[in-house]
Amino acid sequence: MDLIKIGKFISSKRKEKDITQSELAEKLNISDRAISKWENGICLPDAGNIPILCEILGITINDLFSGEVVDMKDNEKKLEENLLEMTKIKEEKDKQLLALEYVIGFTASVTFLILIFIASYLEMGTWLRILLIVVGSIIFAFGVGNALKIEQVAGYYECSDCHHKYVPTYQSVFWAPHMGRTRKMKCPNCGKKGWHKKVLK
Ligand SMILES: [Zn+2]
Repeated sequence: MDLIKIGKFISSKRKEKDITQSELAEKLNISDRAISKWENGICLPDAGNIPILCEILGITINDLFSGEVVDMKDNEKKLEENLLEMTKIKEEKDKQLLALEYVIGFTASVTFLILIFIASYLEMGTWLRILLIVVGSIIFAFGVGNALKIEQVAGYYECSDCHHKYVPTYQSVFWAPHMGRTRKMKCPNCGKKGWHKKVLK
């Protein structure tokens, strides 16, 4: 995906429609800076803004990602290319997220242990001791909660029976027994309970 080409395309379509950057920003309810970032090829519009942006510019989503108006006969091929690329981007993002999960989980656990250790072994008043334990527990709960949230949304879980891939609810991830990232959950497709592996594709 060529961000520069996409940016130039957005810019030229906007000018064609005789809309300024700030007018476009206002229509999308975002800052002028965001528009200029897209147009300079620094980043892509957020998924949430894309449909309205395309409507305003009078282009298809496929045109947007191709950075040009796609000829009807090339449409399907371009669409496939763009979808493939989007999948790759999501995979890469999911990979980074899952790495972050480890960092958050690890940091929260270590902080918790250090605070509990200090509270248990160092001389101090009772209230300070209680405060340290409470703060430690909050950090731990927050860290684990966020790590689980990442694990829920990044990638998919694959059913061990029917190989159906799905994104589970936060609740089911939270309560599921697990070994690493493999969790015992109920498959929404075949209804069987089993150990479902985390997969990125
Ligand atoms: Zn299944």
